[in-house]
Amino acid sequence: MKIARIELYQVDLPYSGGVYHLSGGRTYSSFDASIVRIVTDNGLEGWGESTPFGSTYIAAHAAGARAGIAEIAPHLLGQDPRQLDRINDTMDDALMGHNHAKSAIDLACWDVFGKSVNMPVCALLGGSTQIPMPIISSIYAGTPQDMRARVADHRARGYLGHSIKVGALDSEGGPALDAERIRSALADRQPGEYFIVDANGGLIPETALRMLNMLPSGLDFVLESPCATWRETLSLRQRCNVPIVIDELAQQDADIAQILAQDIADGIGLKISKAGGLTHGRRHRDICRSAGLSMSVQDTVGSTIAFAAIAHLGATVPPRLLRCILDCRDMVTLETANFDAPVINGGVLAPNAPGLGITVHRDLMGAPIDAWTL
Ligand SMILES: [Mg+2]
Repeated sequence: MKIARIELYQVDLPYSGGVYHLSGGRTYSSFDASIVRIVTDNGLEGWGESTPFGSTYIAAHAAGARAGIAEIAPHLLGQDPRQLDRINDTMDDALMGHNHAKSAIDLACWDVFGKSVNMPVCALLGGSTQIPMPIISSIYAGTPQDMRARVADHRARGYLGHSIKVGALDSEGGPALDAERIRSALADRQPGEYFIVDANGGLIPETALRMLNMLPSGLDFVLESPCATWRETLSLRQRCNVPIVIDELAQQDADIAQILAQDIADGIGLKISKAGGLTHGRRHRDICRSAGLSMSVQDTVGSTIAFAAIAHLGATVPPRLLRCILDCRDMVTLETANFDAPVINGGVLAPNAPGLGITVHRDLMGAPIDAWTL
């Protein structure tokens, strides 16, 4: 089997909650998705998506993802899409880094692979645990009262995990406001809920310690990406007792290895496009499993196509290590595909349909903005 054609589409995904506020004064109201369709010489097709969280979340942006895909695509024509490690070697030989560009192609190849053997992607990744996966909300930074209300709203919709965004600038209220946000968001905590306090790298050790010192004891949460650099994170790690989870800093395989080498965290936010696709996501999963690190399987953001990949990888993580998955479908107003994975009692199961199990809404895609043919 050979890759005979690669098509690239662009779709705008409006944020479903209005304006998303992140530490450092960053705001987002819409997300720019790059969607890839791969067609094989025997007539199979596979789909993948890569949607960065704007241009200021990590060193990735949508125009860069598309430029990267254009750089890589000609090298993949004629290759066997089922040989995923070899596909990734070819991508790495064509372009260094740029995980967001590689992710959409990698997902499309996994979709083809699954269809070619009539199996769901989760089966090819090791098999589904068949245990419903809890979903996590994304509570952007706002007033403490507003964040408490948004947690309650998501709780009512079945969410068991809550990611509370903090990282107030001094001009906004600094560590005192962040401490109040945490107290307020956790005030109505229910049994079985999991809270992440996520600063998206917006703190330094000094502000993080001041924030933690203002909290009452006994609050149950993990602190995600408190600082932007390894040095700052390690410094904080050595001086606080709160479990630390790494998100933005954990991108390459070597980053996961560094977490272990320095014992710098207790878990990771495993975002598929940040890792470069399911092939690297699978590797991150296995390293974390070997080391006893917890995982939240997510993506930077995305539509149903990205969520399908999340569901299939998340389904293969043992429940004792899987904290939650991100239902990014709920974060955008556009549904790019049908995907039979409803949220039931707060949990999601990956479907058994072949490949990613999606039926893409072609009418929303428009014409491809670029295409490469064997
Ligand atoms: Mg995060």
